Amino acid sequence: MERKNIWTKFSEVQLKELEAISQGYIDFLSENKTERECTATAIKRARAAGYISLEEAIERGTKLGAGDKVYAQIQEKAIALVQLGKRPLADGLNILGAHIDSPRLDLKQNPVFESGDFALLDTHYYGGIKKYQWVTVPLALHGVVVKRSGERVNVVVGEDADDPIFCVTDLLIHLARKQMEKAGREVVEGEALDILAGNKPLTVTADCPKDIADLAEKEPIKAQLLMLLFEKYGIEEEDLLSAEIEVVPAGRARECGFDRSMIMGYGQDDKVCAYTSLEAQLDIELTDRAAVCLLVDKEEIGSVGATGMQSQFFENAMREIMALAGEEGEVALRRALSRSAMLSSDVSAGFDPAYASVFETKNTAYLGRGMCFNKYTGSGGKGGSNDASAEYMARIRSMLDAEDISFQTAELGCVDAGGGGTIAYILAQYGMDVIDSGVAVLSMHSPWEVTSKADVYEAYRGYKVFLREA
Ligand code: MN
Ligand code: MN
Repeated sequence: MERKNIWTKFSEVQLKELEAISQGYIDFLSENKTERECTATAIKRARAAGYISLEEAIERGTKLGAGDKVYAQIQEKAIALVQLGKRPLADGLNILGAHIDSPRLDLKQNPVFESGDFALLDTHYYGGIKKYQWVTVPLALHGVVVKRSGERVNVVVGEDADDPIFCVTDLLIHLARKQMEKAGREVVEGEALDILAGNKPLTVTADCPKDIADLAEKEPIKAQLLMLLFEKYGIEEEDLLSAEIEVVPAGRARECGFDRSMIMGYGQDDKVCAYTSLEAQLDIELTDRAAVCLLVDKEEIGSVGATGMQSQFFENAMREIMALAGEEGEVALRRALSRSAMLSSDVSAGFDPAYASVFETKNTAYLGRGMCFNKYTGSGGKGGSNDASAEYMARIRSMLDAEDISFQTAELGCVDAGGGGTIAYILAQYGMDVIDSGVAVLSMHSPWEVTSKADVYEAYRGYKVFLREA
């Protein structure tokens, strides 16, 4: 089924709303580059919309009923927003799930070293990246350092216009004859992803802590960097052992193209679905079944750990919420989960004319043709995929067609061209209906990904319909 570019279908009123959503999204992308930042913003937005935390609700023994709004978060890296519906929770939930972690470089625990008169920071990359894309682009540091005392220091450097930025260097083309013959995966090695962080030696003064002054004799540039960290943040080198500093592309997301129809920015996988899902959840009126928005961490490395989708975090939160709603017990919880419907909202590979051969055009997502549905993902014969049922896909079609929401169906490229997965299969284990849905992206997992404003808007509209009607 050929799908058309949807830009011309929108009314003037819709185009205004499309622009408003897009501008909100550009701000969100620019200001929320890490899972911690996304969770903090989601909590702030939720509280402003009348949500209370699950801890507060438990402490006060709040009786929850239709229209009540609760959020649960874990380690400030993942969050579930639940708005109770008219029907009991045991009748099932309508769930939007997206992930808020994105590929990046993480500082190692012992990152600082000096070499060739430079202070450098060693990294370990996170998620699937083409390492050569991360050299010679402006980078920023985002994260936290936690001292022995438990005191937490927030760090964001490289985003304000007068902040310094950072980079990973690359070999000059003049000396790259051997490098250019290497396979793509080895052109830039993982251990070469070192952050350029200083070039000036320390002048020892009376203010210098003794260990830094001593270090300055052998490694004056490293000593200078440590002195700056001490002065600005009150942290010592040892404090970096308990830190999480993520190195991400510096700068704001921007409109892309003469016609401003697209958005270029870091981390659109999967903040494009996280943002539109969160907006839909916060805008939705009282629904029949409970509306849920799940924003989770660690998808890019297998949905593992306490804050990934495989954790029992969501199940535990629902058990607590159901108890407060007077729906105690294992049977009610299992019913709620098995009767739920979910959109596993994640990005799709958008057709790229420069790399047409990896796409099969009948089953490919195009930028500007609406939200995407992947009945299945996986690799090597659908391996590792959730495969949504025909019946569920039919319900989704009917829901969206009734509201004139444009959608397209897609696979992740040609058969055996590669593959990938999402969080869909994890929630499907409860027996609920799950399908992959989302927004098409160009240059996925690169420092600057591209989406279409029309698709962002259609995803937002589609998610609202789903929360209401599923
Ligand atoms: Mn993703
Ligand atoms: Mn991804």
